[in-house]
Amino acid sequence: MIPRPLVLLVEDELVMRRVLQVALRSQGYAVAEAETGAQAIARVEAEPPDVVLLDLGLPDMDGVAVAGSIRLDHELPIIVLSARSDEQQQIRALDAGANDYVTKPFREGELMARVRAALRRESRRAERRDLVIGDLRVEPLARRVFLGDEEVALTPTEFKLLYLLAQERGRVVTHRQLLQDVWGPAHADEVQYLRVYMKQLRHKLEEDPARPKRLVTALGVGYRLIPR
Ligand code: CA
Repeated sequence: MIPRPLVLLVEDELVMRRVLQVALRSQGYAVAEAETGAQAIARVEAEPPDVVLLDLGLPDMDGVAVAGSIRLDHELPIIVLSARSDEQQQIRALDAGANDYVTKPFREGELMARVRAALRRESRRAERRDLVIGDLRVEPLARRVFLGDEEVALTPTEFKLLYLLAQERGRVVTHRQLLQDVWGPAHADEVQYLRVYMKQLRHKLEEDPARPKRLVTALGVGYRLIPR
């Protein structure tokens, strides 16, 4: 089961909080709540949500400062809710690290669309994040691989294969999964393709390709990438 995205709702007005909570739950989100800036920061530390909805007018802290504080340690999306028509306040919030803002009063549909968009952007960003597995670094956007400080030249197919294993670091990826994702569903049974390419990868990434310690075989099942 896919876990429901967690939305942290930071809002001091009870009525507004109730309305938003009901709306978010009806869209399938899990909702955590905070009434103050301090509570919001503590909740993010305790359990980072997938997105933060942040009212700028809070009793204890300026919402802009809350956004800045969250942004110091977290890349999660922050959508600012502002009752103020004050454009300056919204600009300051964006400068402090907020990703988007909605001006109150807003239509529920509009806010939900912003939340969905923020989650989509976040999942795309997360997918392309550089992966570090021990001394191996895989950069999906640049399509580059480094072993320590040395760049390793890989063919596009070798790169795809390594990237899949890197995304599942430590876990076994089955022959079938690797074949389907790299060569397509029509080649799901062509295990010999994998043997050829894994051999090439090992020659590039293992100290002793005959005794692999990084790209390890799970006999009859698949392969896994182990941090070195
Ligand atoms: Ca408020």
